[in-house]
Order: sequence, then C-alpha cells, then structure tokens
Amino acid sequence: MVEKSPSRPSTPPRALERDYTCLGCGYNLRGQPERGSCPECGLPVAKSRLGDLREQPAAYLRRVKLGLALVLTGYLCWLGALVAMLPFAAGMNLVNDNEWVAAIVCLLSGLVLAACVLWGLAGPSLGWWVATSRQPESASMLGRGLVERRAVRVLTPILACSVLVTIVSVVRDIAAGGRQGDLFIASGTVLSILWYLLVILGQRLLNQWAWSMAERHQLRIGRTTSQLLVAAPVLVVYSQIVEPLVRPWLPYPVVGVYLDVGAIVLLIVALACHVMCLREVQTIVKHAHHDAAQREGRGDHHA
Ligand SMILES: [Zn+2]
Repeated sequence: MVEKSPSRPSTPPRALERDYTCLGCGYNLRGQPERGSCPECGLPVAKSRLGDLREQPAAYLRRVKLGLALVLTGYLCWLGALVAMLPFAAGMNLVNDNEWVAAIVCLLSGLVLAACVLWGLAGPSLGWWVATSRQPESASMLGRGLVERRAVRVLTPILACSVLVTIVSVVRDIAAGGRQGDLFIASGTVLSILWYLLVILGQRLLNQWAWSMAERHQLRIGRTTSQLLVAAPVLVVYSQIVEPLVRPWLPYPVVGVYLDVGAIVLLIVALACHVMCLREVQTIVKHAHHDAAQREGRGDHHA
C-alpha cells in the first residue's frame, strides 16, 4: 500500500541544548522543545531562536554586517549635516551683500549638506534592506520570519519613493523661486515619519539580535532605547501641537519652552542610544561571523 499522507515525516521533538533567552520575557529556554512555546509567556520558541546569530551561516552574517555598517554611515552623515549647516547658514546671511567668498562657502557647504542629507536617508534605508535579507533557516523555523524584518522590507521601498518625491519637489520649488511648496511640505512630513519608523523597527531588530545572546545588560539598554524612541516623538507632537492649544489655560505658560527643549534633548538621547545599540550588535555580528567562517572553513576542510 502506497503511503499517500501529505503530512511531513514526523520527527521526535528536539530539546534546545543551550541557553536561549525568550524574546518575550527573558526566560531561559534551555531544555524546551524546539517547536514548543515559552512556558512563562507562550511566545513560540522558534521566534526567540531566529534572533540568535550563533547558528547562522557566514554568508548571511556577512550581509547583516554590511547592512549595519551602511546604517551607521547614514547616521554619521546626519552628524556631518549638522556641522555643514553652520557655514551654510552663515554664508546664506552674507551672500546678499555680494560677498563672493560667502557665495563659495555657501555653495561648498550646501553641496556637503545635500550629500550628507541624501546619504543620511539612503544609507540607513539601504543598510536595513541588506541587513534584513531572508534568514536561511527562517522558512523551516517560523514561516516567513520575524514581523519586524518583513515590516522593514515593506517600509524601505516606500521610503525610497518618498525621498524621490521630496527631491523632485525641492528642485521644483527652487525653479519656481525658492518658496516651499505644498508638495515639499507633504512629502517631507511623510518622509520624516517613515524614516523615524524605520529607526524604531531597526531598534526592535537590534533588540532581538542582542537579547537572544543572553546578555542582560544589552536587554536593558535595548528596551530603554525602544521606549525613548517612542517617547521622543510623542513629546515633540505634544509640545508642537497640543501645548500651544492649551497654553492660554495653563497657569505657567513658559512651560512650553521647556517641553520644546526637552523634546529635542530626548530625541538626541534616543538616537544616541540607538547608535550605541547598533555598535554593540555590530560587535556581536562580527564575532558570530568570525565563528561561522571558522566553523565553515573547518567543515570544508574535512569534506
Ligand atoms: Zn517567554
């Protein structure tokens, strides 16, 4: 009799043979069945294992390494943009006095500024796209993989489109005499929201990579950074939109200034923590890649 059952061949459930931190609650999953769930919070064991970089092939880890490096170059460009802003603004103030030196300073710093802003947007988008390429094992372990990974894959092409629309609108506005048009304001707003969303999703991926390495220290930093990244725009929106509306009824109207400053400081701290987490995960990926390359090198040698 021919076996017609379409079900997969049943293998006995294997238990995890080393420490895995549950991504949901931090419970140590050692000894739990591979396809089971966390006994504390019910999160599938496979989801916590997916974030573990110790078992990934070297080719995949190389892509993650390259991706994270691209993300970091983008963030450094934002720092460069802030620096280039100073001579650009100073040059703009003097350029009306027909100062040719001011015009040259303005032009050069303007070019640097534009390049930094462009790569500040393109670098992280491209980097997250590369770093979130499909994990070789994910299909067999957990359907289509981590939800954040898929969200980043959807977000980055949309972000690229909004960057293009913003560039077109800037060129159009300059050609029309330099006034900011509605298209620029709309696409610029969409762009900043998407970009920030990408930072938050990227941080969640960093958390999963770092948490699964059973590092309590990284677990704490990652969670705090996620909270800061969400809290910062909430405070910005409150200080810019809600506070001006309720200001007439506030007993101390000056509080709005503190909120504005607080929102900016919180935003800078949140992004600095995000970069710090990125650097830590870069180190983890570097070590995992080194180990995987050695492991695979040995394998090839024996084969
Ligand atoms: Zn759990």
